[in-house]
Amino acid sequence: MRGVHVDPRALTARAGGGATWGDYNYATHAYGLASTGGIVSTTGVGGLTLNGGIGYLTRGQGLSIDCPASAEVVTADGQVRTASAEENPDLFWAIRGGGGNFGVVTSFEFNVRPVKDAYVGLFFYELEHAGDLLRFFRDWIRDAPREYGAFPAFRVAPPLPFVPEDRHGDTFCVAIVHWTGPMDEGEKAMQPFRDLAPRVAEMCDVWPYPQLNGAFDGLFPKGIRSYWKGAYVMELTDEAIEAHPAHGPHAPDASSTMHLYPINGAAHDLSPSDTAFAYRSATYAAVILSAWQDPALDVERRQWVRDYYDAISPHSERGGYLGFMAEDDADKVEDNFAGNYPRLTEVKRAYDPGNLFRLNQNIVP
Ligand SMILES: Cc1cc2nc3c(=O)[nH]c(=O)nc-3n(C[C@H](O)[C@H](O)[C@H](O)COP(=O)(O)OP(=O)(O)OC[C@H]3O[C@@H](n4cnc5c(N)ncnc54)[C@H](O)[C@@H]3O)c2cc1C
Repeated sequence: MRGVHVDPRALTARAGGGATWGDYNYATHAYGLASTGGIVSTTGVGGLTLNGGIGYLTRGQGLSIDCPASAEVVTADGQVRTASAEENPDLFWAIRGGGGNFGVVTSFEFNVRPVKDAYVGLFFYELEHAGDLLRFFRDWIRDAPREYGAFPAFRVAPPLPFVPEDRHGDTFCVAIVHWTGPMDEGEKAMQPFRDLAPRVAEMCDVWPYPQLNGAFDGLFPKGIRSYWKGAYVMELTDEAIEAHPAHGPHAPDASSTMHLYPINGAAHDLSPSDTAFAYRSATYAAVILSAWQDPALDVERRQWVRDYYDAISPHSERGGYLGFMAEDDADKVEDNFAGNYPRLTEVKRAYDPGNLFRLNQNIVP
């Protein structure tokens, strides 16, 4: 069920429930079209969209759940239903952010828009500039044109050709920036990230959108062990910023990082109660994640994530993004849905009263 059918006249793409974003991009890019997926192209269209979907195109097109026109859902009673604004609108509301709680989505129909290439900038700064980067990002991203996407991160430098060889394996604070406006304005669009601090390494170029969406794929091969924590941030105060440099620089390897994704631009065009995704009013979604191969590292890697999360949580909301929850976050489900939780339990009772779909961030009917 990985097929993707694009209708370039209607500007829609229908993706099977098992498609990855890589499958989706491959089909839509042929027409110079795209809709919001995540940061990694090996993730599924199904799970990521049901969680909400935060990605490169969020500021321009909204969350992944803001792009669907409809979905085909097999509910717990075995019925095949269409969920859309016109048919089963309560189910359509709930699957846009409510996770896998309401049925098996056999296909999604998305509205797609012209996005062919992105002007991409990767900027590596010395760790002493972490505070400068986070403060600049906070002030700049608030009103930046919607053609921009960007997020700061802490990252161990992989052996990339544009990173000086003697700095491979060192940790940096990094800005990942992209521009989907006119490509001839891309070079100028990167300038603010050059001005903010000296760069140890920098790469700026035009990439086809699927290349951008797949840039981190190699860091998360299939079967890798992982642990995550996520937090929504309403306001990135100076105190919140100070919590990062104590932990981010200790990221143990290139597959361990903190990304601070902006939730603004088109994501703010809807209100928190318009879809099940309750935290549109947040300004950022932070994710702290570690991925590793060797089971002997389980305790150490989880501890790095937990310690980092503990440091930022006093400056964050109680709820976090559903897609960034670890298996020990089951007690946070209600917090993650905030004011939308009561309505979600009602829809759950209507479509899955026996809680057939419970191996997830579970909404108890
Ligand atoms: C490497 C990596 C990077 C990520 N980056 C991002 C990101 O940039 N943005 C973001 O928003 N999230 C991101 N996530 C989190 C992502 O939203 C969740 O991990 C999501 O569950 C992935 O869905 P999947 O279909 O790939 O996974 P699966 O393991 O296949 O599914 C996870 C769960 O989703 C539900 N589900 C999946 N497909 C369906 C379907 N068709 N019908 C009904 N239920 C379904 C089920 O409950 C299932 O147990 C990332 C995850 C990983 C592993």
